[in-house]
Amino acid sequence: MKKNIIILASLLIMMMQGNVMAAGGAVKSPTGIAPDRYVYYPGTEALAKDEIRLFACGTGLPAARRSQAATCWLVETGNGDKFLFDIGTGSMVNVAALMIPYDFLNKVFLTHLHTDHWGDLSTLWAGGWTAGRTGPLKIWGPSGATEDMGTKYAVEHFLKSFNWDATTRNFVLSPKPGEITVKEFDYKAVNKVVYDENGVTIRSIPAIHAGDGPVSFILEYAGLKVVIGGDTFPNKWYIEHAKNADVAIHETFLTPEALVSLYGQSPQQALGVGTQIHTSPQAFGKVMSTVKPRHAIGYHFFNDENTRYGVYDGVRETYDGPLSLAKDNMVWNITKDNINIRMAVSPDEAWSVAGPTKPPRPPARGTVPNPITDFIKAGRWNVEDAQGPMIKEFKKEHNMK
Ligand SMILES: [Zn+2]
Ligand SMILES: [Zn+2]
Repeated sequence: MKKNIIILASLLIMMMQGNVMAAGGAVKSPTGIAPDRYVYYPGTEALAKDEIRLFACGTGLPAARRSQAATCWLVETGNGDKFLFDIGTGSMVNVAALMIPYDFLNKVFLTHLHTDHWGDLSTLWAGGWTAGRTGPLKIWGPSGATEDMGTKYAVEHFLKSFNWDATTRNFVLSPKPGEITVKEFDYKAVNKVVYDENGVTIRSIPAIHAGDGPVSFILEYAGLKVVIGGDTFPNKWYIEHAKNADVAIHETFLTPEALVSLYGQSPQQALGVGTQIHTSPQAFGKVMSTVKPRHAIGYHFFNDENTRYGVYDGVRETYDGPLSLAKDNMVWNITKDNINIRMAVSPDEAWSVAGPTKPPRPPARGTVPNPITDFIKAGRWNVEDAQGPMIKEFKKEHNMK
């Protein structure tokens, strides 16, 4: 209940922020339903062929918190494809609440390799493996200035660091969904296609952030264009290639003032981080008033009562077009005629649901070495009396030998 009130309050704030069109409509009968809703109930709406649904699964900072996970965007296209752009720390809990089968969540595009943009890969990798993904996870990401700064290296060593996890799961689950394939592309490529399937094209452009490697992505589908900026200082590539975007996402950081008073930074540090490494609200506004998207989305700051108005005022000094200052669980339904903005509402207890395809069978007995030695096995305490009858009953019910 409390959560719903918070969501409604955020929605009202969102509606006050510019030309946001929320759904609405009068209730005609005391026993009828509200014709249009201010909220999106995951799993209840079919996506039209020419529609894109964009979901904010993470809009915050590296220090993830309950109300804001780190960066993650889910793009669902009307042809049935789903793309995760970044998978920052904590973001998978928001994705899980959408009740999408993990088998449909197998494409991840990384803008760069800061933890707040890929820290929750472990959750998608292992969680999806145990919960029904049928094949390898596929990752697209940029190269780096050297081999050890690229996506391929990162994922290779990610798998090495989770060797215990993979080895123990491989004994009881098919190893296929535990694999990760990486398509690494040149971070310097300008507007080059990195993905082109089933009517969806994704291109990358370089971004300017912290070191060589970061990129932004441009997704096009059904004549619609969504630009997913990762972390970046305003740059010439975004200005040129985000033009004509239906939705343009770009980071906007906390004001230097807020970084000092709320984040404990020194004034020098605050100016450096807030205006040189990241994009200030004023600079974000300048980018958007130059690019002129149908709708602009700013994110990558703690979006609270005591921060958002400072960011908003800064943006409005230089941009007066349609704007969302994104929070986690915001949803944009994008068509040629309309951009509908709502908050997703689902219970904290929501699980992912099973997909139409069965996961591959686990390896046959004896083909994979048991990761438990006889020494540990010999420590098993006999609970046959306690669970024996239940096991017998279960086997009978499922025709098991
Ligand atoms: Zn970063
Ligand atoms: Zn970041």
